[in-house]
Amino acid sequence: MGKVLSSNSGYPRIGGKREWKRALESFWNDEISKEELLKTTETLRLANLKKQQEIGIDLIPVGDFSLYDHVLDTSITFGIVPKRFSYEGGKVPLETYFDIARGNKDAVASEMTKWFNTNYHYIVPELEGVTPKLVENRPLAFYKEAKEKLGIDGKPVILGPITFIKLAKSFGEENFASLLQQFTPLYIQLLTELAEAGAEWVQIDEPIFTSNFSQEEVQHIQQVYEAIHQAVPHIKIILQTYFEKVSFYEEITALPVHALGLDFIHGDSLSLLKQHGFPEDKVLVAGVVDGRNVWRADLDKKFVLLEEIQKHVPKDRLIIQPASSLLHVPVSTELEESLDPVIKGGLSFADEKLAEIVLLRKGVQEGQESISKELEKSRNALSDLNNSTYRQNVKVKENIEKLTENDVNRPLPFADRITKQQERFNLPLLPTTTIGSLPQTPEVRQTRSKWRRGDITDQAYEQFIQEQTKKWIDIQEEIGIDVLVHGEFERTDMVEYFGEKIDGFVVTQFAWVQSYGSRCVKPPLILGDVAFSEPITVKESVYAQSLTKKPVKGMLTGPVTILNWSFVRDDIPRVDVLNQIALALREEIEALESNGIRMIQVDEPALREGLPLDDTKKESYLASAVYAFKLATSSVQNDTQIHTHMCYSEFNAIIDSISALDADVISIETSRSHGEIISAFENNTYNKEIGLGVYDIHSPRVPSKEEMKQNINRALKIIKPNQFWINPDCGLKTRKEDETIAALKVMVEAAKEVRELQLSTIK
Ligand code: GLN
Ligand code: ZN
Repeated sequence: MGKVLSSNSGYPRIGGKREWKRALESFWNDEISKEELLKTTETLRLANLKKQQEIGIDLIPVGDFSLYDHVLDTSITFGIVPKRFSYEGGKVPLETYFDIARGNKDAVASEMTKWFNTNYHYIVPELEGVTPKLVENRPLAFYKEAKEKLGIDGKPVILGPITFIKLAKSFGEENFASLLQQFTPLYIQLLTELAEAGAEWVQIDEPIFTSNFSQEEVQHIQQVYEAIHQAVPHIKIILQTYFEKVSFYEEITALPVHALGLDFIHGDSLSLLKQHGFPEDKVLVAGVVDGRNVWRADLDKKFVLLEEIQKHVPKDRLIIQPASSLLHVPVSTELEESLDPVIKGGLSFADEKLAEIVLLRKGVQEGQESISKELEKSRNALSDLNNSTYRQNVKVKENIEKLTENDVNRPLPFADRITKQQERFNLPLLPTTTIGSLPQTPEVRQTRSKWRRGDITDQAYEQFIQEQTKKWIDIQEEIGIDVLVHGEFERTDMVEYFGEKIDGFVVTQFAWVQSYGSRCVKPPLILGDVAFSEPITVKESVYAQSLTKKPVKGMLTGPVTILNWSFVRDDIPRVDVLNQIALALREEIEALESNGIRMIQVDEPALREGLPLDDTKKESYLASAVYAFKLATSSVQNDTQIHTHMCYSEFNAIIDSISALDADVISIETSRSHGEIISAFENNTYNKEIGLGVYDIHSPRVPSKEEMKQNINRALKIIKPNQFWINPDCGLKTRKEDETIAALKVMVEAAKEVRELQLSTIK
């Protein structure tokens, strides 16, 4: 009988305690030398490999490690450096590598954008005007390193040509084929060198195979892989896909590669297998353990899945693996010292997931009896969590079941509400406001750390936050902004803050994942039934409102964003969790309203990014997002004004859903999208109020009044003045105080001038 293998497709780079982040940032701040950076990260990289070996993984990935981003690594492998950075060919210097990612004093950084539907951001390759060349075979270097230093015969991981080219910038449909022609020989060269060095396996990542391609493109893809196969026939290529099922299954399974990696968790690959079978000459790398979530796998269910798979693929052609790279999960649960053992027992981070893979492999190979003890232990841990009070909140479940259509609709339609709101607030034409957060100075951050460490009392901390709020209410008044904010000084993170205060969440110590560059996020865990327990933001909002006669917006994170930026329990449907969050927020909104806060903003910056990759799933996602938003926001009175905020530009496809949220006012980012977004409103079907960002908050530069007026006037060509609000693109927490004050002053002046002109033309 052949041997089933275990495999991993990618391991977190950051280290259990973010050693990686610290090393990088120390280097950028000139606190350590390049040699020290390279030494520290090598130690970490080798330790990561060793750990996977000790856990018992057969195919260990090498070259998945990065000093910033694996897409950027691929770019510099091929000498792709945008023209604005000085580069003379050959191996790309480390300094240039970081410059592309972070910009330098002479040149702006390359853009970064979200990696498929994750919260990881990659650096967008800029292919324009550069001739790619294999200038540094990075996978080879990593392969040799693992072999020489640890005796590990690793599986090099490479971003595939199709995905790389598709993710790159400024390539029109017409040159897909010619780019492939340029890159194919380079990939062949890279693979040939790997084969010569003795690499038996190589993993070529093509996650783009989950999206749609034209017939013509499919033919190009076939030609590329045919050419690679002809040139490097002996290396065992795993064509690795993830995050969804593949979109043209029959063609992909027919490509001339040794093995195909499919995601059985985030896409229904099993149905494809049942429908079309699996080629007899190929190995299946079955992704059966969730690579995006933090919960212990139900091994019994996994064995059922693996049985199903084995009806189509025999054991000796089966490799078992997490469903995607473990880049998207934290390193190890072992570091968590203050979690309830019932919770900790139900968790599985990267290391624990690999141990699950090893167990599953053994169970498939030798029968489940061979692992009966471990299975028993795993079952008990899961049932302890499932039967715990966290997951058995009967009241929440009843409340959800009781909901009727009336609970998700405001009593009056927008057109009638808005007149009542105008009476209440009496705002000028083109009112000005901001998005919520105000500069978080080092002082704010340091005071919060001190408070968290217990160095200052709750009382002292609260007083400090109040002082900040008061200072900024005064500043906003003085600048002349019409609708004020309290500034969010009490929050580090817009999701974690709510996670700490709503039942059903738990905030960990070390469950960090990389977001972009050295920046990591620590999503809260939604482990149980979500319920409101006590007011979350009321005190801060009421305090701020007490300082001014102008309206102060209440400021909440919306249900979809809280869901998308958390690790969500996987024992009940996501939409149920979503509605539980919405209900908790509904109570918070009611509490704000009854305490006199009559303008409430519910931010949904993650709504767009949560859109499923599979087109057929989009509609139901959007429908449930709209339902949850309305569930949270619809119980208020007609003259309470609901705002929402989103910060992205690709809007056209979802404009109907945005409108269906039925928020009275929406503010959105525009300045980076060069007005494209305005076209979404061109057909005039959007009847509610809109604030289009009139300046980019991502840059320290203070724009001129003329620029801002231009932005406003451009929008006013399409949007009626009585619908329009004036605000920056996004929250101001990352900006410095003086630049913020300067920019807001300019914004208010620009608003005044446009307002006067508008009023005089109306007369
Ligand atoms: N209210 C939040 C802020 O101003 C919104 C942040 C966001 O859109 N990501 O910071
Ligand atoms: Zn924003």
